[in-house]
Amino acid sequence: RFITFEGIDGAGKSTQIAATIEWGRSRGYEVVQSREPGGTRLGEKLRELLLHEPMHLETEALLMFAARREHLAQVIEPALARGAWVVSDRFSDATFAYQSGGRGLSVDKFRALEAWVHPDLQPDLTFLFDLPPAIAAQRLASGRDNADRFEREQCDFFERVRNAYLQRAEASSGRIAVIDSARDPQVVCADVLQCLEARFA
Ligand code: C5P
Repeated sequence: RFITFEGIDGAGKSTQIAATIEWGRSRGYEVVQSREPGGTRLGEKLRELLLHEPMHLETEALLMFAARREHLAQVIEPALARGAWVVSDRFSDATFAYQSGGRGLSVDKFRALEAWVHPDLQPDLTFLFDLPPAIAAQRLASGRDNADRFEREQCDFFERVRNAYLQRAEASSGRIAVIDSARDPQVVCADVLQCLEARFA
């Protein structure tokens, strides 16, 4: 199984990822935890560049998919082939939301890259942690002080990212589960576990 976690910065993915991994392992599955951009040695180097180096939007999208290609080849595909679960903090839905929705990369170019890099593979399940950007910003402000160049974006940027995520969820035929993450993390977690039980138990 391939499960991914999405949402704007400050949506609270990390806590829910930990709970999902524990859920999988407690059922005896091998669970591989990963993240994007990143997940491999090369991918982590690209992540450093993506997070801190100003660049053209299309360069950004190409590097995201370059990191993803490596992630698929080295981590995701081998793990799925041996029957392990892969839990990834972000995947292509993030590129759709951030680079297309947030920054304006043409959706045709996004689709071309997606069709090139993973024509036949989508996550089995994606959790989209949805909340108003103003609440997410408050959470980030109280928790972290070393923001990367993306986290310094304004609320209207995150509003566009959020809307793109919701649009992608709408078109996903149920692959993307939208979770209201403005609620208490424990309540959100109960929703996540219920969803996992319903789909995979
Ligand atoms: O989710 P995580 O905090 O690891 O993401 C790192 C940064 O990269 C975040 O600020 C996120 O908004 C940004 N990002 C992005 N486009 C992507 C994936 C992540 O701008 N496709």
